[in-house]
Amino acid sequence: MIISSQFDGGNIECLDASDPANVQLHIRKDNESDFFQWFYFRAANVMDLDCRYVIANAGAAAYTGGWQDYRAVASYDREFWFRVDTSFDGDKLVIEHNSSEDQVYFAYFAPYSMERHADLIAFAQTSEHCQALTLGETLDGQAMDCLRFGEPAAGRKVIWFVARQHPGETMAEWWMEGMINRLVDHSDPVVTEMLKKAVIYLVPNMNPDGSRRGHLRTNAVGSNLNREWDKASADKSPEVLCVQEMIRQTGLDFGLDVHGDETLPYNFIAGTEGIPGWNADRQQQLDSYKQTLARLNPDFQTEHGYPANRPGNANLSYCSNSLAQEHGALMMTLEMPFKDASDTPDNLQGWSPERCAKLAHSCLDALHLSWDQVT
Ligand code: ZN
Repeated sequence: MIISSQFDGGNIECLDASDPANVQLHIRKDNESDFFQWFYFRAANVMDLDCRYVIANAGAAAYTGGWQDYRAVASYDREFWFRVDTSFDGDKLVIEHNSSEDQVYFAYFAPYSMERHADLIAFAQTSEHCQALTLGETLDGQAMDCLRFGEPAAGRKVIWFVARQHPGETMAEWWMEGMINRLVDHSDPVVTEMLKKAVIYLVPNMNPDGSRRGHLRTNAVGSNLNREWDKASADKSPEVLCVQEMIRQTGLDFGLDVHGDETLPYNFIAGTEGIPGWNADRQQQLDSYKQTLARLNPDFQTEHGYPANRPGNANLSYCSNSLAQEHGALMMTLEMPFKDASDTPDNLQGWSPERCAKLAHSCLDALHLSWDQVT
């Protein structure tokens, strides 16, 4: 057997692959950081073998609650990702699998490569209503891509969607792909209506370096970008700096920062309750959007999620809190599961790229339906 992870987004160290029934693996830490949990590797020469892949350092990962009731994803063709038998004893994560092909890929969640990201941006820019903007560069020298749908004009609201500050949360970019595929569809009446009223900006990947390096949570130099919005710097977080600057130029009326949560098996939205500028109007906007989304899509719910910050207790280094406070807008954090949506489980795939895309469509529909309440 040969284990490899030297590819876009790969992450594993192989300690010993001599016995298929006891393949010893470690997840690498993010560079200049102690975070780790994202894994993505290929096992080759494994057809018809009963294999046990043991991730021996899983008990020291960032969110061990994420391993409870968790099943890893696998793929033969790198397009369709299915769940496989996985167990966690508090110490080691064990994936058991018998492959029907010579090679099989395993990952924490369906990977979203930087190559696919480049394809997505290139495809989108050929749409009539889309402009591709390059806002700056990362520390590894990758482009910071931003897409704009619609034309800025007096009276038009400004919508921002940003995703994947935490690179291991690949579901966030699958959500983006769903949203972009919807926005390029000129025959979609909701899109047509939205682009009369608004201009929509998207940053499909806030953290290209962490994505390519196979990180869980940080950029090339170990910065957690969702703790940098009150102190963004060219040295530590140029990704945040350039997006923040662009939002200052465009303004902001409504936005979503899209993430994945390791532990909670639900889709939910976190508001910005603890910011100094929070008020009853904003609370009503938040409730209205969440309720509309829950009615539109059974995969989304409002019962489970993070507890709201008490007044004055918001951490302004978070993207949503910072933007909501600075721009006086309804800005929210959307969280999707690594595991599954517990109320609407899918035994074969769990939470999946396909469902991320559908949730993105519902997020646009919810904005359309609750427009007068939320903007
Ligand atoms: Zn996150």
